[in-house]
Amino acid sequence: MKTIGMLGGMSWESTASYYRALNEGIKESLGGLHSAKIVMNSVDFEEIEKLQHADDWVATAIILKQAAQSIEAGGADFLIICTNTMHIVAPDIESAIGIPLLHIADATAAELIKDGITKVGLLGTGFTMEKDFYKGRLSEKFDIEVLVPNDEQRAQVHKVIYEELCLGIINDDSRIAYLEVVKQLQAAGAQAVILSCTEIALLISQEQTDVPLYDTTAIHANQAVKFALGEND
Ligand code: GLU
Repeated sequence: MKTIGMLGGMSWESTASYYRALNEGIKESLGGLHSAKIVMNSVDFEEIEKLQHADDWVATAIILKQAAQSIEAGGADFLIICTNTMHIVAPDIESAIGIPLLHIADATAAELIKDGITKVGLLGTGFTMEKDFYKGRLSEKFDIEVLVPNDEQRAQVHKVIYEELCLGIINDDSRIAYLEVVKQLQAAGAQAVILSCTEIALLISQEQTDVPLYDTTAIHANQAVKFALGEND
């Protein structure tokens, strides 16, 4: 079994979901007392969040490159960055290490393609919904059309992530608001909605809507398990 490198802490609420999913995935595949081999570096999200909102992505890249290098030095065979947003600096991180990086958008695209989905709605931070690093990758590399919520909805979705979900606060009104946005994305033509923020599955789940949801945390963790077991090399 390969050792999984986790670049976590963004936020730790979702890193905990990853940790559980990785171990459950290995246990399900190998049985017994098997658990995932993991090397993790978990950063202080307050520092990252301040730099994000100051638009200082270069400084975030410096922190995350060092963290990734420590994960490689600690013996990881490959790396997952446990957040969608910070894939904005994935190319910098990738060039700073010698182990493979499993990109969260690529893992998600593979699932969408498998299910024949070519037009999706996307929920995430404002950075993920508005910048091109993620939507552009889905459309240019995988030919998947991406719809995002309107201005007001994007602001609300973003606020809930930073002021509630990353702090472990789960609020019923926010759930109702998110489910309404999901419904409207479907009405606008989306065949499915991707939860492109690793905390969103803490708030909404498939049982609460008829619109197919793709949880990037579960998809990314599942791909990492397969990679660790040599099932998708
Ligand atoms: N975990 C979130 C994501 O998947 C948001 C926190 C962050 O900015 O990294 O985008």
